[in-house]
Amino acid sequence: MLLPSDPPMIASYRLGPVLGRGTQGEVYEALDTRTGLVVALKLLHGGRWSAVEMKVCARLEHPHIVRILEIGEHDGLQYIAMERMIGSLAEDAHRQRYLDSPDAAAGLVAKIAEAVHYHHQEGILHRDLKPANILFDSIGEPKLADFGVAKLVDESDHGTIAGTRPYMAAEQLDGHTTVRSDIYGLGVILYELLTGQRPFRAADTAELIREIREVPARDPCKLRPELDVDLTRICLRCLEKAPEDRYGSAEALESALVRHLNGELPEGASRRLRLWRWCLRNSATAGLIAATLTFLLILVPTVLSLAHEHASIRRAQAMQVNTSSAAMVAGTVLSQIRALSDAVALSARDDELVAAVQEGDTAVQQRLCEALYRHYEDPAQRLKLTDNSPFNTWFVLDATGRLTAQYGKETEVPIIGRDFAWRDYFQGAWELGEAGLDATYVSSVFQSELDGYHKFAISTPIYGDDGEPIGVLVGAVPTAANLGSLVRHDLQNITALVGPRDHEREDQPDGSHWILVHPDYVEGEADPLTNPQVELLERASRGALRVEQSLGLPAPSLVQSSDDYRDPTATRHPKYAGRWLAGFAPVGNTGLVVVVQTEYDLPPRFETQFGRQLALWAVLSAAPGALLMLFAAWHRRRRSARRAA
Ligand code: ATP
Ligand code: MG
Repeated sequence: MLLPSDPPMIASYRLGPVLGRGTQGEVYEALDTRTGLVVALKLLHGGRWSAVEMKVCARLEHPHIVRILEIGEHDGLQYIAMERMIGSLAEDAHRQRYLDSPDAAAGLVAKIAEAVHYHHQEGILHRDLKPANILFDSIGEPKLADFGVAKLVDESDHGTIAGTRPYMAAEQLDGHTTVRSDIYGLGVILYELLTGQRPFRAADTAELIREIREVPARDPCKLRPELDVDLTRICLRCLEKAPEDRYGSAEALESALVRHLNGELPEGASRRLRLWRWCLRNSATAGLIAATLTFLLILVPTVLSLAHEHASIRRAQAMQVNTSSAAMVAGTVLSQIRALSDAVALSARDDELVAAVQEGDTAVQQRLCEALYRHYEDPAQRLKLTDNSPFNTWFVLDATGRLTAQYGKETEVPIIGRDFAWRDYFQGAWELGEAGLDATYVSSVFQSELDGYHKFAISTPIYGDDGEPIGVLVGAVPTAANLGSLVRHDLQNITALVGPRDHEREDQPDGSHWILVHPDYVEGEADPLTNPQVELLERASRGALRVEQSLGLPAPSLVQSSDDYRDPTATRHPKYAGRWLAGFAPVGNTGLVVVVQTEYDLPPRFETQFGRQLALWAVLSAAPGALLMLFAAWHRRRRSARRAA
C-alpha cells in the first residue's frame, strides 16, 4: 500500500478512518482543512482515471448521484473527494428494508434510473451498477456512486471487475456496453431487492457467465407469489438477454416504475386488460355497476313488454268501445232516415202530385217540388237537420224513369227529360211499386248530374188512382260533415258514414263504396274506399235486404271491427293518415255503415308514465354506484398525491 502514513494528509485533506475498500483502492473519511467539511476521499491505486471524463462527472449534479467535490493528484496518487455518505445497499440491513416493501424497492430503482438517464444523456455510461455503488445520505436518500469511474478500470484491466459480474449483461461481458447494459444492471438490483437473491448466482465464474448468456431469469413471482405481476414484468424486461428486448432508456424504465407505483397500468396495456385491472382494483364499484346494469337489463325488457301488453289491451278496449258506439250511432242514424223516409212517403201520396203525374202536368210537378224544398228549408220544420234542408233536391220521374220535374239549389242545368231509369233510386222505388208496397227506398250514393254533389236519395213510388205505380218521387240528401246532429265527432273518436256506390251512366259495375259523412267534409264531398276497406264494410253490411225491408233493424252479429283500418280521406287530409282502430255497424238494411275510428297509436299515457318511472329508478339505482366511484377516484388521487409528496 502506498498510503502515506505520516502525516495522514492528501493535499488539503486530513485522512480519517477507512470507510471501505474496493477493487480500485480505499475510501477514507477525510476532513477538508480548507473548508472544514467532512468528505469521503477515494484513492486510486492501479491504473488512472480519465481526467476528461472525471471533469464531466464533476460538473453534472443530480439529487441521486453522489456529488464529486474535487478530483486531484497528490504525489502521483489520484484522488476523488466526494460527498460523505452513510452506508450502502450492499449492507444487509438496507436490503432487508426493501425486501419488506416491493414498492419501496421500485421507488429506489426509479430514483437511480432517473440519475442513470441523466448521465446517459451526457453520453456517460455507468457500467458498474451494483448495490455497493448505491449509497445513502444522512436522511436515507439513495445516491449512485462511481459514475465515470468504472469505464477506465474496464479498459485498463478486465480482471478488476470480476466481483461485479453478477450485475453485468451478457453483451457487457463481451465488451459491448450500451445504455441497455446499464438497464440490465438496474434490473439485477431490482431483482435482488424484490426476491432477496440475484437472478444468476453460480459460484463458478464460467458457469455464471453461461447462466447470464443462456438461462432466462426466473420469474420473481415464483419466488415470492405475493409480488405484483406488473412489477415483476418490468424487472424481467430489464433482464432480457437481447438488449433490444429491454427498455430503450433508463427513463422508460423509470416511468414504467412510476406508473406501477401510481397504480397505473403498464404502457400499451389492452383495453380489456385495463378494464379487468380496474375491476380488480375497484371491486366494490365494479360490482355495483355490474349489479345496476343487470338490474336495468332485466327491468327494461320487463317494463317494455308490460307496456306493450298494456297498449294492446287498451287497443282491444278502444275497438270494443268503437264498435258499440258505432252500433249506437247506427241506431240513431236509422231513426233519422226513417223520419226522412216518412216525409218522402207522405209527400208522394199528395193528391195534387198524383194528379199532376197522371196528367203529365210537369209545371204543377215542378211547383210541388219547389214547395217541398221550401218546406224543409223552413227552420220551424222538425226535419231540418242542418243549416240547410236535409234534402237539397226534390224530383219526379215518370214510369219510364225520365225526369219530369225537379227543384234544388241549383236548378239552372237543363236536365228535364233525361233518362234516369238506370239509377238505383229509380229501380229500388219502382220495384217497391211493382210489389205494391207502401214503402221507401234508401238509395246507393251517387254523384249528381245536376250539381256534381255526392248524395244518397230516399225514393218512393207514386201510385195512380188504380193503385198501379205511375212515377217515383225522390228527395236527395247530400254528403256532409254531419248528418244533422246525429253524427258527432270528438277529439279522439271520429265517426264516419259509408254507403254503397251507385254505378255510373257508363254501365260500370257497382259494388264500391263512398265515404259520405266525415268531420272535415263540405257538402257534396265524398271519397272512394280502397279495396281492403270495402271488404270490411261488405262484411259489416252483409245480409242487408235493402229492397224489401229497407229500414229493418240491424242484426247485432253484423257489428265488426278492425285494428288496421285506413281512412280514405287521408289522401286529401293528411291528419287521417296511418293505422286506425275502427268499429263498424250497419244502419238497418240501408246498406249504410257507421264507422267509429280511433288512432292506432293511442296517446301514450301509461307508457310515458312508466318510462318516466323507469328512468327515475335507473337514476336512483345508479346513484350509489356513481358516488362510490367518485369517492374511489378522489381517494386514489389523494393517495398518489401523498406518495408524491
Ligand atoms: P468497486 O471497486 O468495484 O467500485 P466498491 O464500490 O465496493 O467496488 P469503492 O467504490 O472503492 O468500492 O468503495 C468502497 C467502499 O467505500 C464502498 O463499499 C462504500 O461502503 C464506501 N464508500 C464509497 N464511497 C463512499 C462515500 N462517498 N461515502 C461513504 N462511504 C463510501
Ligand atoms: Mg464503488
